[in-house]
Amino acid sequence: MDGPGVKALAYRLHHLLAGRQVERLDVRADRWQANVLLKHCAGQTVQRVYAHGRWLLWDFSHGLSWICHPLRGWRWAVEMTVSSPILNQAASGDTGSVLRPLLLRPGRRPLLRFTLATGMRVVLSGRPLLVILPTAQVWQHPYLAGLGPDLLEEGFSPQTWAAGLHYPPRYTVAQVLLDQQLIAGIGNPSKCEILFAMRLHPATPAAVLSRAQWERTATAARERLVAACHAALQSGAAEAAPNRVYDRAGEPCDRCGAAIRADRSGADGRWSWYCPACQARRMERTLFSPESGA
Ligand SMILES: [Zn+2]
Repeated sequence: MDGPGVKALAYRLHHLLAGRQVERLDVRADRWQANVLLKHCAGQTVQRVYAHGRWLLWDFSHGLSWICHPLRGWRWAVEMTVSSPILNQAASGDTGSVLRPLLLRPGRRPLLRFTLATGMRVVLSGRPLLVILPTAQVWQHPYLAGLGPDLLEEGFSPQTWAAGLHYPPRYTVAQVLLDQQLIAGIGNPSKCEILFAMRLHPATPAAVLSRAQWERTATAARERLVAACHAALQSGAAEAAPNRVYDRAGEPCDRCGAAIRADRSGADGRWSWYCPACQARRMERTLFSPESGA
């Protein structure tokens, strides 16, 4: 799940759960070493659910927080245990699209199930990473302390980001976009689409881009993620924004007709889908181009 999917999920969960009390919490004894801490959350109120990059964060009223990351896919579902006016409305579509997509059947092997005083039951299945921390120390934890700015944050500024951008030597543009410590929230599908929008080959050395080009890349990335987040909120699917290159190897590019290629040239440990014609490989800054020089 990309940053937009997590952001949309956080928005929905917050909308449903903030200010509500957890009545009971069931966990699988064999899977959760943090059982005791988790169970402490029973009787407490969910204060806030929010996202940073691909991390989902929960704050509870007793000063503890959960930080969760979708390691190999996860599913959050909300069930009704009793007749609930909020959920009945949501199921019938009266409250629009915000709540409805969460009313799914939970996965086959739920890991965590908590019941709220209102009769709603929230179920987590899949294989997430889940850490429980004092809320005041959340941002000192090694998982979060090094995260770059969240592209979907209101105050994100492409100018400020590009001005402060430092990456390891020999990094490719694909590596910069996927490195959550440089910029948080971009997953592999979005990376491919952003590079296509910017006409950049995945293997382009990061140093080839000027500061102005990085600003434009960050602007394009934000546009892509905002659109994906809106699509996820409307349809419930995290990857609802249409893909022009991602997962379309062999299909014609909709700009030039060349066959889309997939390989590992981005050197980021993931596959990259790109148009070899529109995204020609460039190894140096283009002299005399209005884009060159920061
Ligand atoms: Zn093309």
